Amino acid sequence: MGKYLGPSCRLCRREAMKLFLKGTRCYTEKCGVAKRAFPPGQHGQARGGKLSNYGLQLREKQKVKRIYGVMERQFRRYFAIASKSKGVTGKVLLQELERRLDNVMFRLMFATSHMQARQIVRHGSVYVNGRRVDIPSYSIKQGEVIEIKGKEGVKKAIRSNIELSKDRGLPAWLEADLQELKARVLRLPDRDDIQMPIHEQLIVELYSK
Ligand code: SF4
Repeated sequence: MGKYLGPSCRLCRREAMKLFLKGTRCYTEKCGVAKRAFPPGQHGQARGGKLSNYGLQLREKQKVKRIYGVMERQFRRYFAIASKSKGVTGKVLLQELERRLDNVMFRLMFATSHMQARQIVRHGSVYVNGRRVDIPSYSIKQGEVIEIKGKEGVKKAIRSNIELSKDRGLPAWLEADLQELKARVLRLPDRDDIQMPIHEQLIVELYSK
């Protein structure tokens, strides 16, 4: 599957929820979901038919991929890890996605979107346990310390992201000094920490066919 290059707000409207794909705009009244709360497309407002079971499963998978900004191949890799694990497949799948370093940056409010979080990681400003990590898919572990180092300009931009995102709040599995831009992973995320409306069982059913 290639990279989606179309309008981001369409994706949120399709999933009927804010996916925070456009950074600062997502925090204003210009948000596409707030302005047009119906599916995109010519017949968006007229659509209301019930989706088939397969349709529901497919929608759920697309939604989760979009939330975390991962492509099909990578998503399947996470599913393979989850299905081989001893835990509940759907729960482990979400946990693996949640542990991605770019997602952690987003949860810490250091970035206003997953895309921006990925850029910050790629630019080499993120250090984990004192070592620079520029791989957005890096999977964080309990006890690890995440820090932003480097140019003051980058730190200033991150502080302004925190200001914009503060309504999202910090999840219970992370603690952070938002002034010092330093955080610690208290524990791995649990299913209850993921507040978004996700029905992971539908994804498990889809891939189990
Ligand atoms: Fe567009 Fe962001 Fe609103 Fe999604 S959350 S509709 S990307 S402005």
